[in-house]
Amino acid sequence: MSAESTLRADIVEVGRRMYARGYTASNDGNISVRLGPERLLMTPKSVCKGFMTPDMMCITDLEGRKLQGDRDPSSEMLMHLEVYRQRPDAQAVVHAHPPTATGFAVAGIPLDRAVLAEVLTTLGSIPIAEYATPSTRELPEAVRKYIKAHDGMLLANHGALTVGADLYGAYYKMETIEHFAKISLVARLLGRENLLSREEVMRLQELRGSYGIQAPAPICAVPGTDLASRSVADRTGAAGDATCQTVQAPKGDGSRLVADVVRRTAEGREDEEIRLTYRELSALLEDAIRSLR
Ligand SMILES: [Zn+2]
Repeated sequence: MSAESTLRADIVEVGRRMYARGYTASNDGNISVRLGPERLLMTPKSVCKGFMTPDMMCITDLEGRKLQGDRDPSSEMLMHLEVYRQRPDAQAVVHAHPPTATGFAVAGIPLDRAVLAEVLTTLGSIPIAEYATPSTRELPEAVRKYIKAHDGMLLANHGALTVGADLYGAYYKMETIEHFAKISLVARLLGRENLLSREEVMRLQELRGSYGIQAPAPICAVPGTDLASRSVADRTGAAGDATCQTVQAPKGDGSRLVADVVRRTAEGREDEEIRLTYRELSALLEDAIRSLR
């Protein structure tokens, strides 16, 4: 099988997996891969990613001109082209709407807390690109701020975007983002999120080197902020682009895990809210009712 036919088959397979895992509904999402220095292979517009065939793909140049294919290229082609322009190392781009990660993108909560070692060593942080109207020129502009320093990001009120050194690498990063979003959601529902200390984050950063993990930018750990403010300021360069992967990691007292995050109210006071389980609450109510009798 030629390289091109292998890549066509790989896009079909990645599309099937994304659809099967519920990362896309209907015709959502798009996938592209470099076919050579000047050409891209891309999913077409208006097809369900779960039911594609290899012959459906489009070939375009890096300016988005269609070179081959019966169908028109993806409606998010401009975003893909921008990623390849900004990231000469990127061989593939995947965009989907995985529901839990997209929930974070809708809530405006980036996945930027130092929580899981695997996520820190691979993606670092997962910021949120500003809201932009899908399929317009706004979207590549919103993505530009983060794409040089990040392999994955959320798109506000829209979905997620990942890049990779090959197609499966980009797809696996999408899986990692959705998996991380699910774990973060469960931890937050449980009411507690212990963070890795800044020292531990730096240790993980060194591991990237020894495991040969290619990351587009280093991690910069900033003190964990409180839950009232949802994210930390990004470190940006002169062009306003993020220059590192900003992660919330509090300074530890030598221990690797830092217990919970201090909850503060909007006014900055420590949050004294008491959170009870349903069982505890029921027991209190029963006591109160009994004392009234
Ligand atoms: Zn989309």
